[in-house]
Amino acid sequence: MSTKAGYLKYDRVDGTVLKEEERTKDFQEFHLRLPFQQRREQAERCMNCGVPFCQNGTMIAGMASGCPLHNLVPEINTLVAHGRLEEAFRRLSMTHSFPEFTCRVCPALCEAACTCGVHDAPVATKENEKEVIEYAFEHGLVPDGKPKVRTGKKVAVIGSGPSGLAAANLLNRRGHEVTVYERKDRVGGLLRYGIPNMKLDKSVIDRRVGLMEEAGIRFLTGVDVGRDVPASALMEQYDSVILACGASNPRDIQVPGRDAEGIFFAVDFLGMVTKKLLDTDFAEYPKSLVEGKDVLVIGGGDTGNDCVGTCIRLGAKSVRQLEMMPQPPVDRLPSNPWPEWPRVLKVDYGQEEAIWKYGSDPRIYQTTVKEFVKDKKGHLKEAVLISLRSEKDEKSGRLRMIPVEGSEKKVKTSLVLIAAGFLGSEQYVTESFSVSTDARTNVKTEPGKYLTTRKGVYTAGDMHRGQSLVVWAIAEGQRAAREVDEDLMGYSNL
Ligand SMILES: Cc1cc2nc3c(=O)[nH]c(=O)nc-3n(C[C@H](O)[C@H](O)[C@H](O)COP(=O)(O)OP(=O)(O)OC[C@H]3O[C@@H](n4cnc5c(N)ncnc54)[C@H](O)[C@@H]3O)c2cc1C
Repeated sequence: MSTKAGYLKYDRVDGTVLKEEERTKDFQEFHLRLPFQQRREQAERCMNCGVPFCQNGTMIAGMASGCPLHNLVPEINTLVAHGRLEEAFRRLSMTHSFPEFTCRVCPALCEAACTCGVHDAPVATKENEKEVIEYAFEHGLVPDGKPKVRTGKKVAVIGSGPSGLAAANLLNRRGHEVTVYERKDRVGGLLRYGIPNMKLDKSVIDRRVGLMEEAGIRFLTGVDVGRDVPASALMEQYDSVILACGASNPRDIQVPGRDAEGIFFAVDFLGMVTKKLLDTDFAEYPKSLVEGKDVLVIGGGDTGNDCVGTCIRLGAKSVRQLEMMPQPPVDRLPSNPWPEWPRVLKVDYGQEEAIWKYGSDPRIYQTTVKEFVKDKKGHLKEAVLISLRSEKDEKSGRLRMIPVEGSEKKVKTSLVLIAAGFLGSEQYVTESFSVSTDARTNVKTEPGKYLTTRKGVYTAGDMHRGQSLVVWAIAEGQRAAREVDEDLMGYSNL
């Protein structure tokens, strides 16, 4: 038991979330921390169960259950409950390079697998983690990781998303000389230019990158490897290369009228918005992109939700969000028991804000776009939507979504954001390094390994496992670093 069986005494309490009308005025984070005494009570709810699924990180029914980093969740919760935050931070640091990112953006696989959650609300582990890491930063406990000795080995990391950062951080700590190449103007990958600022304040990335620079990691931004610098040059210069370029190839919607002006990939749109905010130090919002427009977001997932929240902040007249699949159930089905990831209806922050602003959930299920309609100047003016019905494929047993002819209807829209997922790695990088990819264009390795089909070239993150989560990217970056270190030094103490 963490202390005094807090799960019998306290209900789950989350930190205050600013009301929609307050938080949609700007792009600032809106989750506040609980007073410390209440945070301790929340940590006391941890049951310290014999088999803590929260830290398991295993795949069940194709979905991760528990933390892929294997954070020592019950131990950390116990230390928080006792008010021993410095020790909690040391425990957290044993498994996790960047808790300050996941405590803001992770869907909390740990909480979905929490034993307390079988009959009651799970322990608020994600917010406990935030208390620990923010306390550590506030009290100067986070080391820069400067190595005492250099090994003389050089490693290039291509891509500065969470996987690249995690790999670079560990390898530098071990004493290797690490250079991170990033094609964008700023470091962070999708942490920077995908996830909106209100979910992850970009100063949180700068704070970490500053420490990494102090520790000796070199960041080269605005360098597109495979275009500006050939792979052969890097292979000569470095002992090992890690490809951590993400799954940056967005899935398109190929229907008539796709060339209309006013259709963007969600990730490009979100990146443009964040860049404008950062370039102007939040003095200017790129309102002209959205203000007064009827917006159609294609894709009912998390990226789509980020688009909804962003468009509301930029003054959209209306926002609709299309989802091809049927609406999930409100509660777990018997076929989806604990501790599997719960496939249930989630109302995320963007949808909450849309309900507040426009009076209804923006999601329209079992619907897609059949056609985009342009005006005479080529600007988007309408979209033709069509309903879908589900049908089980006899051979694979999978659900297929079939258009229902005659169900078409036109909606007015002048801005479409495509948030339909990603297809995998970009060919120019994989070809440049001559590494093999699988059918999904993810870079190929042996199962559980990070070495590609080319000696000295490793991969990690979305580029390796396909579009995923920040927590997986960090886990992959850490594991890839360990493998690189073993191959360079004959053993690894990472
Ligand atoms: C809009 C959006 C919101 C998301 N929200 C969440 C969330 O809330 N929680 C969560 O857990 N996950 C979220 N995800 C997923 C998560 O961001 C990714 O799984 C994670 O960032 C992958 O990390 P990565 O390091 O593998 O790749 P990325 O973060 O994609 O970073 C790859 C980096 O490599 C750079 N690069 C690519 N090619 C080259 C090249 N040739 N030369 C130099 N640099 C190159 C790219 O510019 C990029 O900076 C979200 C994704 C999107 C798109």
